[in-house]
Amino acid sequence: MPDFGAGDAERTVDDQKLDEALKRHFGHEHFRSGQRRIVEQAIAGRDQLILMPTGGGKSLTYQLPALLLPGLTVVVSPLIALMHDQVDRLRENGIAATFLNSTLAAGERTRREQAIAQGRMKLLYLSPERLLSAECLGFLEYVQRQVGLSLLAVDEAHCVSEWGHDFRPEYRQLAAVRERFAALPTLALTATATERVRRDILVQLKLRDPHIHIASFDRPNLHYAVLAKDQGAYTELLDRLRRLDGASAIVYCQSRRAVENLAERLVADGLNALPYHAGMGAEERTRHQTRFLRDDAPVLVATVAFGMGIAKPDVRAVFHYELPRNLEGYYQESGRAGRDGQPADCVLFFSPGDRAKVEYLIAQKSDPQEQRLARSQLAQMLAYAESTVCRRRILLGYFGEALAEADCSSCDNCRSPVATQERTVDAQKLLSCVARCQERFGLRHIAQVLRGANTQKIRAQGHDRLSTYGIGADRSEAEWLHLGRTLLHQGLLSETTDGYPVLKLNALSWEVLRGQRTVIAARLPARPTAPQPTDEAATDDTATALFEHLRRLRKRLADEQNVPPYVVFADAALKAMAQRRPQTMTQFLAIPGVGSRKAEAYFTPFTAEIRTYCEVHALLPPSEQAETSPPAPAHRERRPPRGTPTASTHALTLQLWQQGLSIEQIAEQRSLRTETIEGHLAELVEAGENIDIEGLVEPKRRCTIEAALLKLGTATLKPVKEHLGEEYSYSEIRLVRARLLCAQGDF
Ligand code: ADP
Ligand code: ZN
Repeated sequence: MPDFGAGDAERTVDDQKLDEALKRHFGHEHFRSGQRRIVEQAIAGRDQLILMPTGGGKSLTYQLPALLLPGLTVVVSPLIALMHDQVDRLRENGIAATFLNSTLAAGERTRREQAIAQGRMKLLYLSPERLLSAECLGFLEYVQRQVGLSLLAVDEAHCVSEWGHDFRPEYRQLAAVRERFAALPTLALTATATERVRRDILVQLKLRDPHIHIASFDRPNLHYAVLAKDQGAYTELLDRLRRLDGASAIVYCQSRRAVENLAERLVADGLNALPYHAGMGAEERTRHQTRFLRDDAPVLVATVAFGMGIAKPDVRAVFHYELPRNLEGYYQESGRAGRDGQPADCVLFFSPGDRAKVEYLIAQKSDPQEQRLARSQLAQMLAYAESTVCRRRILLGYFGEALAEADCSSCDNCRSPVATQERTVDAQKLLSCVARCQERFGLRHIAQVLRGANTQKIRAQGHDRLSTYGIGADRSEAEWLHLGRTLLHQGLLSETTDGYPVLKLNALSWEVLRGQRTVIAARLPARPTAPQPTDEAATDDTATALFEHLRRLRKRLADEQNVPPYVVFADAALKAMAQRRPQTMTQFLAIPGVGSRKAEAYFTPFTAEIRTYCEVHALLPPSEQAETSPPAPAHRERRPPRGTPTASTHALTLQLWQQGLSIEQIAEQRSLRTETIEGHLAELVEAGENIDIEGLVEPKRRCTIEAALLKLGTATLKPVKEHLGEEYSYSEIRLVRARLLCAQGDF
């Protein structure tokens, strides 16, 4: 990974402090590759250029420094929808973030500005237009004097470059902002990796001695595959969408009409699919997008108009139902799958007919320069679609990156390598048929002649009298078509590109015909019959079923707050919960994605859901085995609890206990005696609450108490207490008795 940075940061932050902050604010256990260094450099006040693929975790690299540095971090982001989303997610993590834009009412804007100027905000999101306004610049100068500015983060920094796919002239003027706030360290972030764009960003944004981080563009969690787009393609798509079982998927088509048609067809087949394209009204588009983001409609059928700036992290599959225009576009669009790092599928449906369609469109272009560019892009796209080698290798190669391993083991070609065979004789038959037809026909016609088909065209041309007529009857038409395409692909045959593809022999074709060159070709690509599970580590049934429950709970909580479900928790967090079934606060905090704010907000509903599920299914929360609950309180002389407290006081104790507070802490918070709290807990255990008593009574003491109870009986506690002596308290004995009785009841 190149790092053009100079020596170490001047102000170093200690690793542990960063780890803690990462967990506390974002709930993540570890930094991803590169993140720590970027954060350190940002804290040290260095300019930086960060190139990371979609889903790489760019936002964290300025959000964490923003929290650790004094003052306000300003984030420039080109898309309002994206700003809302980021701010929602930050707030959900308890981070003081806000945005200013033209949609705000005056009162609300003033309120936000006040909060910023008083230092109550850590991150401010702005569109470039807004930032550049005289009013906003003046305000920021005021903020600088009041509370200080810590960083300027320029998101989607490729917008500064005409060579990027989304040039925005306002971005060019950001250099002026840099001059006005000369001391403000700047982070430029983008997922567009080409050399040209990279240089443009450095120059246009005037980055000074920047630390440049270029992440690998490999996305190991994405599984790439190409499927034949033949008669069975639609059924295949439908099947795959159904197998996603309500998880999100995007299906890309090229034209608005194709989007409408496909969405309609999927709906008719019972899927909750919505169309999205630039031809729809803005309101309807927003509505469909929101329904998709909120998991109300799992499938979005869209043109490329959809996606830029959509950061839904849990899209489990991206399908391309038509051939994308170029490989960069394909990488970006398919890359919208699996931003959360969980397994996801990128599937391209490819028909050789698509090639002819695109070629026809290219032929319509009047500018020869544009035509050449489009042709070379098509060739790269075809190289990907028709390849029999690793798809990932081809994609990464496009970005000038080599794949370290020989095979990626998670693309269709690596998982089930296409068998190749020598096909020289077949190739000679095909090429000589092209020659006999005087290089005036397309591939399908040639295949039909080889097959000895009885078509009107063949009869009219007299091709049924050729020596090659019917010499290939032993193979199917599809096989001949495939071989022909392989020859084209390998350059052993040429084709006109004016939209009416006619096969032409070239020098290499003649070498094959003269027997000077052997032809190796793949066997016909077969559509995989077995479903391809996206989830490698097949979770057991319980975890899967519980995950569904938790997903529904997440959806409900998200709807209540009017945010997308992923803002509440990522899929990975729910999966970990479904597997580990946490019950204590410590266990809950150990779930990836659970930081302090989320733990506070969601501990109760999620652990309750898990508990209920365990009860209904007679399961023990597995977390119970690995105890990390608070240590047993010191044993003082205790009196047995008096009287029966009311139900709500028990509930309150339980809630605090579940939040991870110790008995002493609960007692202090509630102004009650520790004995009382112990009594509550004992009664709760008796009432069947799933309380881990290991944390309350050490195993050795528990054994002694159990032995006494078994010997003297469980009906009354007094004899047991007397037997055990002053060392043991009534509450302890009650707890152990309750557990003992519960356990016996289980058998
Ligand atoms: P980008 O902006 O690069 O596309 P994001 O910043 O949106 O990516 O991050 C993508 C996903 O990765 C988010 O769901 C985020 O919570 C998650 N993520 C980021 N950093 C980490 C980390 N260190 N550990 C676990 N998940 C992370
Ligand atoms: Zn591969």
